[in-house]
Amino acid sequence: MEWKRVKAELLAEGRVALSGEECGPYLSRSTAGPTAGGEGSVFFSVGGRRVRLSVDPRATLVLDHEGGGKAVIRRPGREPLRGVLEIPGLHCPRQAYITLSERCIFSCRYCSVPRLHGRVKCPDEVVEKVKGVLDRVDVISLTSGVADSVEREEKEVLNVVRKVAPLGKPVGVSVYPTERTPDLLHDLGVEEVKWNLEAATPALFARMCPGLDYDHMWRALRRSVDLFREGAVCSNVIVGLGETDEEMARCITDLTEAGVIPVLRPLSPAAELSGWPRPPSGRLLRLLEIHEQALRDAGLDTRKVRTMCTACTGCDLTPGRDT
Ligand code: SF4
Repeated sequence: MEWKRVKAELLAEGRVALSGEECGPYLSRSTAGPTAGGEGSVFFSVGGRRVRLSVDPRATLVLDHEGGGKAVIRRPGREPLRGVLEIPGLHCPRQAYITLSERCIFSCRYCSVPRLHGRVKCPDEVVEKVKGVLDRVDVISLTSGVADSVEREEKEVLNVVRKVAPLGKPVGVSVYPTERTPDLLHDLGVEEVKWNLEAATPALFARMCPGLDYDHMWRALRRSVDLFREGAVCSNVIVGLGETDEEMARCITDLTEAGVIPVLRPLSPAAELSGWPRPPSGRLLRLLEIHEQALRDAGLDTRKVRTMCTACTGCDLTPGRDT
């Protein structure tokens, strides 16, 4: 079976129960985004292509760890799927992807972070963590909730960027930007940025992310493409917030025509949306085709992105990397 179909089915399930050997070093715990908290997740990969699955003892899929990272996913009515578990750097494989503030003053309806009241890491702690995994990562990626104010978060992330830049790895940043953030990060030598539109339409965004500004995100994206170059700017858009395929196709095309690589993130139902369905595999595959075509038309290549979600691919179907 083709990888993209297998991955679409796994993403539509989203979760695995673990059996067999302990998964200790293969487990990753998320402190940002909708999957923050919980029992952690594993990165299962087949032939160098990966999927991230949340660990949940009630899941229908069972991942049997045979030891040494060798694993089999058993799916009802399907052939068992053999692969390997990858050891994360920080958060995901091959990256030191670190969350500065594990809390947020905003309350996007799909996101667990505001309810977790997590920690705020100081720049020196971040640098120590990054140094601790430096020999097994290719890049450094930084993200954050908004602990206090957007301006203060910007100051903190700039501080951290100054401290990790001398470590000699490409740096990517995804925070809620101010008008100045793209310029300031560019001046510090950051390689790539990701500002998340989150919803396919302004109306859905207003409903899902009260207090945040869709037009502002667009301005940050456009300014960033001018500064960083086409294809060095990405934006997560969640699939499954109530948008139609046509609305998602429009959003994808608007982004790619602006030089931005969309990251189509299947909804992980959490927080206020915890009773919502995950998008089915058929829809993910339909949108993958639209996504792939739009990237091709705009001359954008996900394989050139080195940091954050487009490089990781764990949570999403990524044209060029999964196809
Ligand atoms: S795709 Fe992004 S959010 Fe998902 S595991 Fe990878 S880096 Fe984390």
